Amino acid sequence: MKVLLPASEVAPLIKFGGLGDVIGSLPKALEKIGVDVDVVVPYYPTVDPKGSKIYKNMDLHIPFGEKNNIVEVHKTKLPDSNVDVLLFKNAEYFTRGGKSAFENNVDETEMFSFFDRCVVEYVKARFNTYDLIHCNDWHTGLITHILADELDKERPATLFTIHNLMYQGVGGLNLVRELGFTPGSHPLIDWDIADGDLNMLQQGITSSDYISTVSKTYAKEMLTPEFGGDLCEVLQAREGRITGILNGINYGDFPRDFDETDWLNTKNDAKNKLYIELNLNNSDVPIPLFSFIGRLDGFQKGLDILYESIPHILDSGGHFVLLGTGEERWQNKLNEMSENKRFKGKLSINIIFDVDLAVKIYKSSDFLVVPSRYEPCGLIQMIAMHYGTVPVVHGVGGLKDSVRDGQTGIIFEEYTSDSLKKGIDRAFEVYSGHARFEMVQNALKEDFSWDRSAQEYKNLYKKVIELRNK
Ligand code: ADP
Repeated sequence: MKVLLPASEVAPLIKFGGLGDVIGSLPKALEKIGVDVDVVVPYYPTVDPKGSKIYKNMDLHIPFGEKNNIVEVHKTKLPDSNVDVLLFKNAEYFTRGGKSAFENNVDETEMFSFFDRCVVEYVKARFNTYDLIHCNDWHTGLITHILADELDKERPATLFTIHNLMYQGVGGLNLVRELGFTPGSHPLIDWDIADGDLNMLQQGITSSDYISTVSKTYAKEMLTPEFGGDLCEVLQAREGRITGILNGINYGDFPRDFDETDWLNTKNDAKNKLYIELNLNNSDVPIPLFSFIGRLDGFQKGLDILYESIPHILDSGGHFVLLGTGEERWQNKLNEMSENKRFKGKLSINIIFDVDLAVKIYKSSDFLVVPSRYEPCGLIQMIAMHYGTVPVVHGVGGLKDSVRDGQTGIIFEEYTSDSLKKGIDRAFEVYSGHARFEMVQNALKEDFSWDRSAQEYKNLYKKVIELRNK
């Protein structure tokens, strides 16, 4: 089985967020079970080859914007694997990429419409030998349409994976012209642009042979107005063709030198060091340490209910550490809170991106609070468990699918600070009783490696290819 995996990023070559981690890990796990996967991404100037060789493989001629554009296809391998990564180079379209793309003369939707066209031209240049194209997020939302135009009934099957429904890639009608879609040839596009813009995520959802997202619970939640928002009806129309596969974590990125037998000493040592580094008051009496690590996205990450609950943690005798960057409003609010004399020595707010500090916090904490309003999958709760830190999570999406309430973590059901505070109260009870030891040991034994998810993807690929061939 031969699969092409187009995406906007692939770690470690280029990483803007969690999507990069997924695209960098899944193909390696698939390779181990006999799936031949190539990854394809734009060749941004910021690509860091991490010591791997990158060499030019071929040129493609891409019709886009009523002109012929030359794209150089470069090739490298994912580190420690035989997985090919193809990098599309073009000075006009793939200049900055990611968060800085808007500073460019080409906006992100135009850049990725062009990318989608390049992917299809590459499939043609490889004599249409891929069985399936596994598209990811809005950046790849037009690929099925372009494949249909170019290869008609001969086109490979397509799977479209939604990693985050809130980013949709909404562009102008110029995209339709630049891609050369003939009016009337794609009813799904005509229907979408009737309101004056083109939604690339919606196109991916409506046109692909099958859709997946990154947890089983989120696959159901997306169909409701609360989680699916404007796209909920579009998703409902495809209900029989949606599934969820939980992401894994790459344990190689998170080395651990302890297990269920000796975790307590390691955690206490790590905590003592962290308390010195972050200027927190230490004491001979055990104090539960709660933490939060993540993007300061007020809407998704539950910062409002977390903010209201931090004083509750501190007044109940706990300590709290936060590590995150993001919305300025939240950075300021949290910094102001840390200046409150009442919380001195008990609260540490760190507005930085620091992977080493993140690992120290995972290792030292007793509880990691994950109050996200919605969470398609979430990795931090999995990393926390790997370090023997009990997650306290809102029971949604991938949080619900990866945490076992009362066994490996604590789940609170309602998205309110009262409900979160009840979860925190349960954490205090766990900490002072015997349940703590059982829960930490259970958490340490959990396995979220990619192997299980890769097998599920392989089965899904087979199913989608069969459906396509019917
Ligand atoms: P999302 O992909 O929505 O940002 P995830 O939970 O899936 O959230 O993944 C977040 C990843 O980013 C985790 O590996 C986490 O440790 C890391 N991370 C988030 N914020 C920071 C930070 N400020 N410093 C270091 N690592 C961070």
